[in-house]
Amino acid sequence: MLDAAFFRRWLAAAAAAVDREADRLTELDSPIGDADHGSNLRRGFTAVVATLESTLENTLEKEPPDTPGAVLSLAGRQLISTVGGASGPLYGTLLRRTGRALGDAPRVARGDLADALRAGADAVAQLGGAAPGDKTMLDALVPAVDALPSSFAAAAEAAVQGALATVPLQARKGRASYLGERSIGHQDPGAASSALLFETLAETAE
Ligand code: ADP
Ligand code: MG
Ligand code: MG
Repeated sequence: MLDAAFFRRWLAAAAAAVDREADRLTELDSPIGDADHGSNLRRGFTAVVATLESTLENTLEKEPPDTPGAVLSLAGRQLISTVGGASGPLYGTLLRRTGRALGDAPRVARGDLADALRAGADAVAQLGGAAPGDKTMLDALVPAVDALPSSFAAAAEAAVQGALATVPLQARKGRASYLGERSIGHQDPGAASSALLFETLAETAE
């Protein structure tokens, strides 16, 4: 079973991975975007970690999020308010909606998390008007959520493969879609960062 501390550890690991891979994410966003995906997510996840740490240190003044749902909801709100690019509201919505779907249970099973992330990915699709195959983060998120009932490792592998599979696609949503056929041949940066989220989830669960 996964408790609030597990989700804090996951988000800290995700922030570290985003920090480590920020240059690569920004390079992926150069040919088919505006070269800011790594810096956008670095700013966002740094703020998420700072917020979660301050709620641990200063429990008298702030309501510490002490359930998985509350941790994810707070992280999602922080991403939305910190990141100006498309990825901030989209990842913020993913975490908020996933957190809401987990409710106020103190511990959740992997299957509960898979169901909640399904609701989160559906909310991302609705907000962005995108579907799998449009060369967005959904091309990694949806296969990962599909595989999560099997194992964390299977979800991570599905996300990585989903991100790689965006290379031959033509973008139909987001900035990359402005390039039309010239978006073909490049990996989608948001799909690459979604793979990082599921790889760190699997590492945290090990
Ligand atoms: P911006 O495009 O505003 O500079 P980022 O570079 O941070 O924002 O994020 C770009 C990523 O956001 C894309 O690679 C894609 O995965 C994702 N994205 C953009 N628009 C959409 C959308 N409508 N639906 C789903 N994902 C999207
Ligand atoms: Mg960008
Ligand atoms: Mg931008």
